[in-house]
Amino acid sequence: KKYVYLFSEGNGSMRELLGGKGANLAEMTSLGMPVPHGFTVTTEACTRYYEDGKTIAPEIEAEIFEFVSKLEALAGKKLGDKENPLLVSVRSGARASMPGMMDTILNLGLNDEVVEGIAKLTQNPRFAYDTYRRFIQMFADVVAEVPKEYFERAIDLMKQKKGVKQDTELDADDMKQLVEQFKALYKGHIGRDFPTEPKVQLMESVKAVFRSWDNPRAIYYRRQNGIPSSWGTAVTVQMMVFGNMGNDCGTGVAFTRNPATGEKKFFGEFLVNAQGEDVVAGIRTPQSIDELKQLMPEVYDQFLEIATRLERHYKDMQDMEFTIERGKLFMLQTRNGKRTAQAAMKIACDLVDEGLITEEQAVLLVDPSQLDAFLHDQFNPAELKRAKILATALPASPGAACGQVVFDAETAKEWVAEGKKVILVRLETSPEDIEGMHISEGILTVRGGMTSHAAVVARGMGICCISSCGDITIREGEHCFEVDGLIVNEGDYISLDGSTGRVYLGKISTVGAGLSGDYSRLMGWADKFRKLQVRANAETPADAAQAYKFGAEGIGLVRTEHMFFDEQKIKAVREMILAKTQTQRQKAVDKMHVMQREDFIKVFEAMQGQPVTIRLIDPPLHEFLPKEGENLEALAAELETTPAALEKAIVELHEVNPMMGHRGCRLAVSYPEIAKMQTEAIIEAAITVTEAHKDWRFVPEIMVPLITDLKELKYIKGIIVAAAEAVLKAHDSDLKYMIGTMVETPRAALLADEIATEADFYSFGTNDLTQMTFGLSRDDAASYLGSYYDKKIFDFDPFATLDLRGVGQLIERATELGRSVKPNLKLGICGEHGGDPASVEFCHKVGLNYVSCSPYRVPIARLAAAQAAI
Ligand code: PEP
Ligand code: MG
Repeated sequence: KKYVYLFSEGNGSMRELLGGKGANLAEMTSLGMPVPHGFTVTTEACTRYYEDGKTIAPEIEAEIFEFVSKLEALAGKKLGDKENPLLVSVRSGARASMPGMMDTILNLGLNDEVVEGIAKLTQNPRFAYDTYRRFIQMFADVVAEVPKEYFERAIDLMKQKKGVKQDTELDADDMKQLVEQFKALYKGHIGRDFPTEPKVQLMESVKAVFRSWDNPRAIYYRRQNGIPSSWGTAVTVQMMVFGNMGNDCGTGVAFTRNPATGEKKFFGEFLVNAQGEDVVAGIRTPQSIDELKQLMPEVYDQFLEIATRLERHYKDMQDMEFTIERGKLFMLQTRNGKRTAQAAMKIACDLVDEGLITEEQAVLLVDPSQLDAFLHDQFNPAELKRAKILATALPASPGAACGQVVFDAETAKEWVAEGKKVILVRLETSPEDIEGMHISEGILTVRGGMTSHAAVVARGMGICCISSCGDITIREGEHCFEVDGLIVNEGDYISLDGSTGRVYLGKISTVGAGLSGDYSRLMGWADKFRKLQVRANAETPADAAQAYKFGAEGIGLVRTEHMFFDEQKIKAVREMILAKTQTQRQKAVDKMHVMQREDFIKVFEAMQGQPVTIRLIDPPLHEFLPKEGENLEALAAELETTPAALEKAIVELHEVNPMMGHRGCRLAVSYPEIAKMQTEAIIEAAITVTEAHKDWRFVPEIMVPLITDLKELKYIKGIIVAAAEAVLKAHDSDLKYMIGTMVETPRAALLADEIATEADFYSFGTNDLTQMTFGLSRDDAASYLGSYYDKKIFDFDPFATLDLRGVGQLIERATELGRSVKPNLKLGICGEHGGDPASVEFCHKVGLNYVSCSPYRVPIARLAAAQAAI
C-alpha cells in the first residue's frame, strides 16, 4: 500500500486520502501554479499510526524517507546539508477543513550548522537565526508541549534589555542569544537536548501532527461539525519559502470574494517581511491586499490572475494562503472559503448569475446549519440609535449579541452554566478558547484581522465577532477593560453588532432577522428540488406564525402539555390531579377543555389551513405539581386544599423511573376523560376554523404518544372516535380527521405492521426512541457523554444527530413494516433530529413524507432536504 504521494502524483479528487490541503496543493501543481514542491503522507497512515499504538510502522517511515529524497531532488537542496539546506513545513490537513484546530511546524531542518549555511546563503544572519528560534519555539510547543509563554517571556526580556518594542528591532546577535536560551529552555523542560538530526525532527513532527488529530479542541470541533474521528489527518511536507527575508517578501491570506458579505471583490490581508503564523495568529495587524497592488504590482496581478482561475476551477469562493519570497509569488494553500450565511447565499446566487454554476449546485453551496445564526436576531433599530457606542472595529462575523463581559473561556463556561449570557473579551483568541467561544453570545478581540483565529472560527460558528478593537485596553488581572477613560468591569453588559463592528455599552434588545432577496431565491430553488415536506413543532400561536413565515407546511407536533405551562392554566391541571371525587375531576377537566379549544383555534388559524398534528398529553402528571422546596402552603390555599394533601399527592405520583413511567398513552388508559376532552376540543376548534374559512380543507391529525401495542392503540382510538363523532354529530359537521400514533418505543417500531392497521399516520419520536434504544436518559446523559467523546466511543450526541446504525435501523424497519400493510401510510419525524441536516438526509433516503422541527430550524430542514434530493 502506498502511504506517501508527491504533489505531482495527486489531484483535487483525492481529499479522503490526501486531506483537503494535500489534494488542493496537488491540484494547483497540476494546474501549473507556483506551488513549492512537497509530498503528502496519507490519512491512512494516520489511522495506521493510531492502530499501531501511536507509532509509525517502519515501512511507512522508510517510505517517508524515500519521498524526502525525491523532494530533495526536485528542490535541488538537501535536508541537513550545510551548504545548500532544504527546510520544510509540516502541516496537518483533514478531509474536511478544520481551521486552526491541528498543529503545524515551520522551518524544519535547522540545527547549529544548517543555520550557518542559511546565513551564508542568504547573507542574512538575522533572518537565519530568527528562523531558527521560530523553529525551536514551534517544535517545542507542538512536539514537546513546552508552553509558549516561556519563549515569549525570553523575547520580552531581550526586548527590555535592548530597550526596543518590536521583534523586528532585535538584531542577529540577539536572535543568536535567543536560540541558545530557547535550547536551554527546551532541555530544562524535556531533560534532553533539542534534536539536531533533521530526520528525527521530521518524524517527531509527523507524529505530533497525527497526535493533534486527537487534541481536545479538534475533538470538540469534530463533534460540532459532525466529522467522524475515524477519518484522521494527512500530513503535508513542503519545501519552505520565506516571507520574512526582507521588504521584498511577505505573506498573507486572501479570499476571491468578501467572506463576510459575499461581495464580489478580491479581499485579503498580508504582512511585509513576516512568516505565515504572524498573520493567522493576529499578533501584528495586517495590511489590506489592495496595498499589495501599490507595493508589488506585478506580484499582485499574478496573484489576482491565479485567484480568478482557482475560483473558476473550483466553482466556489477560494481562501488562499500565499508567500512572496524576494519578489516571487508562491501558493501555499487554497480551499473553499468559510463564509457567513449571508455571504454564502449571495455568493451562491451570484455564481448562478455569472453562469458558473447551476441552481442545484447553488443549493449545495450553502451549509444548512449556518442558517441558524442568520435567521436569528438583529438589534432593535430604535434602541440601537440611542445606545452609546464604545468603540468601532472590524466587523469580523455578523449578528447581534448582548451579554455580560467575561475575559476568559473558563469563566464563560461557568457563567453560561449558571444561565447567564456572556460576551467573551480577549486580547486575541487561540484555539484553546473554542468551547468558550461557542457558548458565548459574541466575541470581542483587541488584536487580529479578518483572518485571525477568532474571526475565522466565529464566522464558521455563526457567532457574532468584532476583532482588532485597539480602542479598548484590557487591564490584565483587574477583570476590566478601559475605553476612553471609561471602565467596563467583568459582569457589565455590552452589545456587539457584528455587521457594523460597533461595540455598545449596556443591553440592546433584538428583533427577528430580515430575510434577504438572496435568501428567498435560494430557498425557492431548495423548495423546487426537495421531496420531503417540512413541518414545525409548535404550540403557541406566535411560534406557529413564526414557523409559517419560515415556510413550514404544517405542524408536525403540538405538545399539548406545553399549552398548560402558564400560571393560570396549570392551576386547572393541578385541580384535576388533586380531585377527590369524579365531580371535582370533571369540573377541572371542563376548565381545561375551554382553554384547549381556544388555544387550538389560535394555532390552527396561524397555520392558515395547513395540516396540524395534535398530540394528547404526554408527560407524567407529577411534572405539573410543584417541585421540592416550593411554597406548598400558598399553593394549597390557592387550590383550596391542604398542604398535607398536596404533599401526599406529590409523594403518590412520585416515580422511581418517570421517563419509563405513567406517561404518554398510559395516561389515556388510566384517565380516558382527558383523551376525550382533548379530542372534543380539537374537533370543536377545527369546526370553528373551517366554518370561518370555507376554502380551507383542514384535517386535524390526532396523535397518540408512546404506543407499544396494537390493543393499547385500539382502546384509545375507541375513546377518540366516540368523542369526535359525538361532536361532529352535535354540530352536524362532515369534517374529516385522522388518528395516528408516535413511534417512539422500540416495540412499536418492531410491531409497526400490526399497529399500522389502526393508524392513519406514524410520527417517529426520535427523542424517546433514542432514549429507549440506547437506554440513555435524554435528560441526564449530557453530563457523562463527555467521557464517551473523549474516549472516542461516541463521535457525536445521539440526541442531536440520529444514530443511523441503531435508531435509524428501527426507523427503516418500521417504515417497511408499516407500508407493507398500508402503502400510503403517512410517515414523519418530530424528534429534535427533524432539524438536523444529517438526520434530514437520512429521512429523505428512508422515504418519510415529512420532517418536523422547531420553527427556526424550518429553513435549515428545507435546505437540507433539498441537498438530500440533489
Ligand atoms: C420524541 O420523543 O421524539 C418527541 C417528539 O416527543 P417528546 O420530545 O415530547 O417526548
Ligand atoms: Mg416523546
